[in-house]
Amino acid sequence: MKTLTADICIVAAGPSGLAAAVTAAENGLSAIVLEKNSMVGGTANMGMGPFGVGSRIQKNSMITLTKEEVFHQMMEYTHWRIDPRKLREYIWKSGSTIDWLEDMGVQFAGVAKYFPSAAPTWHVVIPEGGGKPGPRAAGAMNKVLYENALELGVQFLLNTPATSLIKEGDRVVGARARSTETGEEIEVRSKAVIVATGGFGDNPEMIRQECGYEWGKDIFNVRSPGVTGDGIRMVWEVGGAHGETHMEKIIWSEIPNCLLLDGFRQPTALVVNIEGERVMDETMIENASVTANIIDRQINKRIYPIVDNRLMRYYRRHGVDYPGGVHSGNPADDFEEGMADLIEQYPDFAFCADTVEELAEKIGIDPAALADTLEQYNAACDAHVDDQFCKSHHYLRPLRGKLYAVALCLGAYGSLGGIQVNYKFQVLKEDKKPIPGLYASGSDTCDIYGDTYLFPLPGNTMGYAVNSGRLAAERAADYIASLH
Ligand SMILES: Cc1cc2nc3c(=O)[nH]c(=O)nc-3n(C[C@H](O)[C@H](O)[C@H](O)COP(=O)(O)OP(=O)(O)OC[C@H]3O[C@@H](n4cnc5c(N)ncnc54)[C@H](O)[C@@H]3O)c2cc1C
Repeated sequence: MKTLTADICIVAAGPSGLAAAVTAAENGLSAIVLEKNSMVGGTANMGMGPFGVGSRIQKNSMITLTKEEVFHQMMEYTHWRIDPRKLREYIWKSGSTIDWLEDMGVQFAGVAKYFPSAAPTWHVVIPEGGGKPGPRAAGAMNKVLYENALELGVQFLLNTPATSLIKEGDRVVGARARSTETGEEIEVRSKAVIVATGGFGDNPEMIRQECGYEWGKDIFNVRSPGVTGDGIRMVWEVGGAHGETHMEKIIWSEIPNCLLLDGFRQPTALVVNIEGERVMDETMIENASVTANIIDRQINKRIYPIVDNRLMRYYRRHGVDYPGGVHSGNPADDFEEGMADLIEQYPDFAFCADTVEELAEKIGIDPAALADTLEQYNAACDAHVDDQFCKSHHYLRPLRGKLYAVALCLGAYGSLGGIQVNYKFQVLKEDKKPIPGLYASGSDTCDIYGDTYLFPLPGNTMGYAVNSGRLAAERAADYIASLH
């Protein structure tokens, strides 16, 4: 058994742990970071960038959105069920955190929306080596945080998952870990600990227990390697209260991420379920988490957006109504050829037919039911009035050409919540009193949206991860100073 000592022990090196590590060192603390994987960055290595409001980039882009507006939007969205002081700490910090990252060397391509009606809060990172931002761009942010932490003297133990927390009396005074390379047992003795292990997205059993979904059947969330709920379990073991838990649900598809699918996520599509019924005002399909709730309610947890070749012809000439936030390019370009390939590769999830009855049969819907739905929908389009779900007449275009459909299912970026913290990011017990010396941040504590991710303010989970890591480290530094 090896014993190491530091002022603070940070469990995990995702964006939250990394931000905590840099902040701890900036505050004069010696810090040891235990990381389960062989590399740092966690789930954020797959993402594009964090939320912020009031950043220099936004000011320079003449974006006038205010912290107050965001605060009210989020509190109303959650019916004031979340801790307003914690949310305030995060939102008020978030603009300066983007500036802090920039000053450290993170380069942002600018600030983006995820879809037309969203707010421009998503600070999208320029990937390593330059080029256009896209999936995995935020890896460059993690690298800068890591390099800065190393420069400031933070010690990282990679391949070293924490296994439990050390509690003496009522205080947490360190963590135990085991190297997965050498098997060596390690004890880090510290004055405070921050837990930031990213939730339980890679733990199907915990997903079932906490959220009631069977992974691979009901839900197909990203399984970020190693994110198995360890920190949440360790905190519960030392008396931390059980916080609300949710999956960060989004639209998913068995067809791997491709531009062509954006052609179906358009307000002009007709979206039906396996019973052949229309299920939504299709303008909502821009919001992946709201649409995920619609998918969740269906008997087979699937929806089927339908478009036709005439619509795609129009989109080729004029561009799509909803350009995707992740892929660049027009999904209508080469649509028919692309769909032919997809149908060959994924015959259970991509479909094309000359008649509605044939399309229904291929999907597995009762042909008469789908034909009836399409007839009613086309009549509403002809009349320019959607009396069913009140879709704007701008997007009511009858589908009378060659029909295309895909199956969309329920996915998630990962899990949210599990550990209860207060606005100082201290871990709380059932009696709402903090456990001295124990802090937590990132997705393990992310309860700021209620049950549905707030996509209209994009970048919010990574934003919360980085900011809560910073805030937890600042509060832990105050606590450590108070011990002298
Ligand atoms: C495909 C994809 C794209 C995304 N894009 C965006 C985006 O653009 N913007 C946005 O806001 N959010 C995005 N997200 C979500 C975002 O990445 C996460 O919210 C964020 O990474 C959470 O940060 P975290 O530090 O809390 O946890 P993670 O990033 O999940 O990191 C957790 C870390 O904990 C480590 N760990 C686990 N157990 C232990 C243990 N026992 N001991 C030590 N270490 C341990 C893991 O190895 C990992 O490194 C995306 C997610 C996915 C899947």
